[in-house]
This record gives sequence, structure tokens and C-alpha cells, in this order.
Amino acid sequence: MSRSRKVHVKSFGCQMNVYDSHRMADTLAPAGFSETANPEAADLVVLNTCHIREKAVEKVYSEIGRIRELKEAAARDGRNMLIAVAGCVAQAEGKEIIRRAAAVDVVVGSQNYHRLPDMIARAMAGEKVVDTEFPVEDKFEVLAAPKQDAIARRGISAFVTVQEGCDKFCAFCVVPYTRGTEVSRPVEKIIAEVQRLVDNGVREVTLIGQNVNAYHGLASDGSPSTLGKLLRRLARIPGLLRLRYTTSHPRDMDDDLIMAHAEVPELMPYVHLPVQSGSDRVLAAMNRRHTRDDYLKVIARLRESRADLAFTSDFIVGFPGETEVDFHDTLTLVDEVGFAGAYSFIYSPRPGTPAAERDDQIPQEVKSERLQRLQALITRHQRRFNAGFAGRVLDVLLEKPGKLPGQLVGRSPYLQAIQVMAPDKLIGSIQRVTITEVGSNSLFGALDENLATELAPAGV
Ligand code: SAM
Ligand code: SF4
Repeated sequence: MSRSRKVHVKSFGCQMNVYDSHRMADTLAPAGFSETANPEAADLVVLNTCHIREKAVEKVYSEIGRIRELKEAAARDGRNMLIAVAGCVAQAEGKEIIRRAAAVDVVVGSQNYHRLPDMIARAMAGEKVVDTEFPVEDKFEVLAAPKQDAIARRGISAFVTVQEGCDKFCAFCVVPYTRGTEVSRPVEKIIAEVQRLVDNGVREVTLIGQNVNAYHGLASDGSPSTLGKLLRRLARIPGLLRLRYTTSHPRDMDDDLIMAHAEVPELMPYVHLPVQSGSDRVLAAMNRRHTRDDYLKVIARLRESRADLAFTSDFIVGFPGETEVDFHDTLTLVDEVGFAGAYSFIYSPRPGTPAAERDDQIPQEVKSERLQRLQALITRHQRRFNAGFAGRVLDVLLEKPGKLPGQLVGRSPYLQAIQVMAPDKLIGSIQRVTITEVGSNSLFGALDENLATELAPAGV
């Protein structure tokens, strides 16, 4: 084999892209590529892109410009650096990327990563390679599993994609076009992947999918499973301490999943449930297929199942035709639910989606002003939520070193980042932590006194 080569993968957008980036690196490993965090040292730079909003696409083109300069510098040193564009922008734009940015060598759609080694070999021979077809084979069947050292490097918390694509066709969204129709992975494959992660030190797994609670993968007896059943099965894996899932659609919150929050201790009390708007008129125009009341009822059922559940959400402001009254309905929904946090976005018209064709688009300054008001309200709720934990004791899964020497960062059950003075050997364990201070982005805590004394070096 030729000298070892280096790949740098940069992810944009959602957690599904982070997962895909890892799987691309895993798939390139048998072809002799090891990962590098430094793009300058790379023989191959993969940009794993996101198409969800316009700015994301522009970001990709400016990033390609930056990498092109590195490619030119490498060429001056007699090195050949390849640039590959992957993900949803690649899927949506295809050949157009190479037309607009000639430095790009490979364009690979979100369903074709398993073909990367072959595509890279062709690009090394000088070909420009574009593959954005939806393949007949299942990429998950062909993608290489991560090696032990890769799992260890990525930390004790891992994402696992259980379903991809979406059949909901919200009027603003490109996902059904870029990721294709909804597909769920078989139960046994997911169990095997999670088991392997746990065997190599992973302690928390987040199941991910564009519409994760629509999961309906086949069980070993050929019957369709549900996300609730899958979570219950995974919770039985010894050594797996915590389970999470994201992103859910309100319509797919079935009783079994709701009850899992009451019955499965490993399932964390945190639900990300995008609502997009608090106005029934806007929700109907968005083709969300749920009303404000439906959403509130789902929240109430979840709270009945487990009272301490924390909720987060996604919002879009300035959807075509959104009036001040509609926007006000969104603000009152935020107050009514009392979210622990939320992402909010300015509506971005995506070519090919129904909402982009509408002639009642909202002026940019109105959208920006509404976003500011919504974000200020969400921040107030988030602060209130966090402030409620001052002086309380939380179970914290310690994940990695913090910024200060001797400090570790972990996560509370409610996904808050917690900074605590603790020795490295506690990474991967759950510890009782008393919250001593509430900051704007994270909470600070102290280890249980007995444990801190036990762990302190002699003479301290
Ligand atoms: N499937 C999830 C759901 O049903 O909400 C989320 C999918 S999307 C990857 C993540 C978020 O991006 C959405 O919840 C929405 O708030 C936002 N988003 C999607 N399309 C958008 C657009 N055209 N303009 C602004 N925000 C958008
Ligand atoms: Fe997009 Fe989510 Fe709607 Fe599917 S459910 S179309 S992924 S916003």
C-alpha cells in the first residue's frame, strides 16, 4: 500500500451530519486514510454540508474557497490535495458545485458515502466524480464499522442514526428532497452497533433521525418495531448508562414512547420536539399536520408520564404570510410550555419547496426583528430553567476535560453542561454533583463531599 494518507472531515449542520462524517472517516480508514484535525496536513478534505438554510450553502462555498488556497499551497509543495463535497448541498446541487468551484474533485450525495473509497481512487487518477443517485443498496449495510481507537477518540457519548429521510413534506423544508424518503434501519443492526460502541467505552447513546420517532425498523421476527421498543431493548445493554433520541415530530409521539419516559430509567428526561410556530394558521400553511392544541396535548401527556421532563424546540419566524398576530401566538406558546431552550431561525426560502413559491414573503427586517424578540423570550425561559437548579444535586455523566486544569465537563439528565473539579479517572461515570453556580451557558458544581475527600491526593 502507498504511504498513509490523511483525511480531514468538516461537518456543517445537524448531528446526523456529525454521525455521517464519522462513518465517512471509518469507511476511508481501510483505504489507508487516517483522520487529521488539521486541513493543511490533509491529502483529502471532505466538507460534509447542510442545505437547510441559505446561509449554510453560502458558508460552504466560502469554505471551499478557503480549502482551495490550501490545495494550491499543497500543489506548490508537490502534494496533491483532493476536495470532496458531501451531504445535503452535494445532493441538491450535484454537478453545479464543480461548475461553480472547479477546485472540487468529488461530489457525493448523502446516500452514497459507502462508495467514497472508489470515488477517491478515480479522483486521484484525475477524474471529476459526481455521485448523487439514490442507490439501490443500503449504505448502512456497506459502511465500515468504526475502529476501536476511533470510538475512544470520539468520547463516551455517541450518536447512532436509526432512521433517515422524511415523508412529511413541511412546506419550508428541503429534507425530503435531499435525504429522500423515510427509511428505518433494522433493530438487530442498531443493537450490534450500540453494543460495539459500549464495548469500546461509550456510555451514552443518542439515537438520531430527521424524524426519529417515526422509526419503524424491522425486528428479527420480521415485525415492525417502534422507537419505544427499540429504546427499551437498548436499555438492557450492560454498561450503557444513558439513552436519548432526537429529532421528534409531534405527530409521531405514540403512547409507547411516552410511557418509555416513565418506565426506562436510562432514558433521559429531555425531549427535543420542534413546533415551528404557535399559530394554527401558520402551522396549516407549513403543512405541519398538527395544531397548537395537538402540540400542547402531547407535551401534557409526556409530563404526565414524567413530571420533570425538559422540553426544547425549533421555531421558524417570518414564514410567508405570518402576521404579527400569528407571531404573538408563537410567543404565548413559548410562555405556555416554558421551554428549557430552543433553536429559532429566520425563514429561508429553499428552492423547490412550496413555501418558496409564495408571493407573500415577509421583509427581512420584519423577520429579524421577530427573531430578536423570540430569542430574548427563549433566553429568559432558559435562564429561569437553569436558575431552578441552584443548590440542587444532579446526576452528571462526566464526559471530558474542562477548560481549567483539574476540571471535567459533564451533562445533567436535562442535557445542561456542568463544570466540576474532578479527576480524569471519573470520565465515563455518573456522579452526584451539587450545583453551586448557574452561568449563562453552563452550570458549575461540586462533587459529593465524601467522594471528593476519597479522591483527593494525600495531604490535601
Ligand atoms: N425533522 C425536524 C422537524 O420536524 O422539525 C427537524 C428538521 S430540520 C433539519 C431542523 C430545523 O431547521 C427545523 O426544525 C426548522 O426549524 C429549521 N428549518 C428547516 N427548514 C427551514 C427553512 N427553510 N428556513 C428556516 N429554518 C428551517
Ligand atoms: Fe423537514 Fe422535519 Fe418537516 Fe420532515 S418533519 S419535512 S425533516 S421539518
